[in-house]
Amino acid sequence: MPDHTLDTRLVHAGEPWPRVEGAVVTPVFQTAMYLSRPGEAYHEQGYIRLSTTPNHRVLADKLCAIEGGEAAITTSSGMAALTSAILAFAGSGDRVMTQRALYGGTHGFFESELKAFGIGVDAVDPNDPADWKRKLTPRTRVLYCETITNPTMAVGDLPGLAAFAMENELVSIIDNTFATPINFRPIEHGFDISVHSATKYLNGHTDIVAGCAIGSEEHIARVKHRVDHLGGCLDPHAAFLLHRGMRTLALRVGRQNESALALARALEGRSRVATVNYPGLESHADHVRARRLFVEQSGGGFGGMLSIEIDGSVEDTMAFIAALSIPLKAPSLGGVETLVGRPAATSHAALEPNERRALGIPDTMVRISTGIEDVEDLKADFVQALERIG
Ligand SMILES: *Cc1c(COP(=O)(O)O)cnc(C)c1O
Repeated sequence: MPDHTLDTRLVHAGEPWPRVEGAVVTPVFQTAMYLSRPGEAYHEQGYIRLSTTPNHRVLADKLCAIEGGEAAITTSSGMAALTSAILAFAGSGDRVMTQRALYGGTHGFFESELKAFGIGVDAVDPNDPADWKRKLTPRTRVLYCETITNPTMAVGDLPGLAAFAMENELVSIIDNTFATPINFRPIEHGFDISVHSATKYLNGHTDIVAGCAIGSEEHIARVKHRVDHLGGCLDPHAAFLLHRGMRTLALRVGRQNESALALARALEGRSRVATVNYPGLESHADHVRARRLFVEQSGGGFGGMLSIEIDGSVEDTMAFIAALSIPLKAPSLGGVETLVGRPAATSHAALEPNERRALGIPDTMVRISTGIEDVEDLKADFVQALERIG
């Protein structure tokens, strides 16, 4: 449906025509394998692990339609998507160039697994092209980055990184989880492969773990071979739920963009709030770039994620979190319910305190994943919790 807008494609794209047995929604195909067809190759056989079932096809077609890819593959988790994508293009002796601040699980994968596979990692500053040039080697194969980094919500020079990868024949892979296709579509900006933890916004209902990778036919065929062999396929029932969640993505993320901005504005400058990190605020270091990429070029907003630093002690910070009545205290993000957590105790707990400090993550930081609750209720709740700590 190339002529329709993103909102319309989110509702309709991917569904087969004619519909299966006339069913409006593609049902769950709860069968592990399918009858053989004459002449089919191994990777085309109907089998859940090979991601060739109707539930996989519908979802892959929808993902392509919303991010402008030629092909997509769904996986059992976001980690399965990004690890399979990296391992599809880097092998023993090769090197991966990556931005320094990364999702905790990805950081752990780079530090322990990639090194164990003999793959070198070069961390760069995503704002400094001279640093990318300096660290480029003849064996660098992959450039890896994230659209918005957790938990300071930094937005690197994404078009610059994509162009650098293209000039140097690196495969560029970007984790677009935090932005969602509503706010940023990496392929439009020259990236080769967009990966998501679909556990978060794409599903949006906090009830499955899933992932995906979207790109060209050629790139995704290589990722699919890795997923086929490493085994990180998505279960058909989870695929059905993810497809259901994606139909309301535009509504949910539109609301989350608006509410996060309103909440960030309400908290900025308030007593006991030292800093608000949200790319939609003019005070954010990457605001101008975020506005250009997410709002002007993508027609979206600044996302649903923000973080604040409490002006006080770690005890004050914990008392503030405890005094919140609407947000649930839980890790993860991107669902309909507002969640809060302290990165030092959750996503970045595995880092050493000095590593956290180097990344700008004080122990008094609170990360907020804005849900779809009434924004006035949310603002009032955060304000009363701040007042409770004086
Ligand atoms: C959650 C997350 C992941 C990992 O996804 P899982 O679905 O938990 O495997 C990767 N990247 C980002 C940015 C995430 O938020």
